Amino acid sequence: MNFNPQISNLPIYEAGKPIELVIREFGINPKDIIKLASNENPLGCSPLALEAMEKSIQKANLYPDDSYYELKDSLANLYNINSKNIVIGSGSDQVIEFIMHAKLNPNLAMLCAGITFAMYEIYAKHIGAKIYKTQSHKHDINELKELYNQHKDEIKVIFLCLPNNPLGECLDASDVYEFISSVDKDTLVVIDGAYMEFAKFKDSKKAINPKDIVSLPNAIYLGTFSKAYGLGGMRVGYGIANELIITAISKLRAPFNITTPSLAAAIAAIKDQDFIAQTLKNNLKEMSVYEKFAKDNDIEFIPSYTNFITFIFDNSKNSTQICDNLLKNGIILRNLQSYGLNAIRITIGTSMQNTKVLEALKKEI
Ligand SMILES: *Cc1c(COP(=O)(O)O)cnc(C)c1O
Repeated sequence: MNFNPQISNLPIYEAGKPIELVIREFGINPKDIIKLASNENPLGCSPLALEAMEKSIQKANLYPDDSYYELKDSLANLYNINSKNIVIGSGSDQVIEFIMHAKLNPNLAMLCAGITFAMYEIYAKHIGAKIYKTQSHKHDINELKELYNQHKDEIKVIFLCLPNNPLGECLDASDVYEFISSVDKDTLVVIDGAYMEFAKFKDSKKAINPKDIVSLPNAIYLGTFSKAYGLGGMRVGYGIANELIITAISKLRAPFNITTPSLAAAIAAIKDQDFIAQTLKNNLKEMSVYEKFAKDNDIEFIPSYTNFITFIFDNSKNSTQICDNLLKNGIILRNLQSYGLNAIRITIGTSMQNTKVLEALKKEI
């Protein structure tokens, strides 16, 4: 059987290894496994969200309210915008997919940083669109501008991952707004704010305000409940933009694209901003433990505005070997060899998890 040519060369996204695999392969007791590979919230999620999910299961036979009225209303209040400026996705991943379908075709192109969230490239390839990436691994505004200007007629979508997964760096908001105004009004600039809560908490210069995005003709802000809100398993994300963009993108959304418990969880999670505050505080405090470890052991690291830190190794060490050895001890981290880097991305865990991870890592370096 033949398939569309763009499928043949499509890379498969390598997700963080699941706990189940470590149980199966190494026979390790689930409670001894530490998974810090997918930037999940080590504190779990808000108890209010848990309670709302449990209650919502009673309505399993009914489709959810497809207008997502209450969730959009809660997000609108949170960001001081209008419900009409919001589209809901099954994770913000799905909104990325909608954007590609709304803007690209095989004659057009997407632009992003040299090393960034792998799904941008994968979704662009679904369409058969062209991909331009900067030589710089991190976001370099000048290089992005230069590449854009060279291929202005083709590039219709630009991704800025703020802060960037898997490297952790973050552009200043003032540079981002200036960049958006410098590109053509028909080119959509996507601000992926999957970790924006963490960046904003660390440094207000990084804060992109969804309210400011709504007033722009050519930008969309993406947010998710998977990271700071601790609801990765519930698959809820959103896009925020002017009404014209949201109306177009919403046409691509199938009805009931998130589930009843997901919807209940997200609505309740927004109400519990104390949980978010606790999450952000733990993250920043524990981040400094990893930074100190890196400095003490001469490991290169990228100052991070997220809930993870990336350690880059010199040639005397091999990140694949280190990850494999840790895995046998029940510690799951993210090897970045698939990005062409001799590096490991570690999600910031609880104090107890971090102590164990650094003890194990110390033996490997
Ligand atoms: C985790 C992540 C997302 C989206 O995750 P969903 O679970 O699909 O909401 C989007 N962008 C980046 C950069 C991420 O790290």
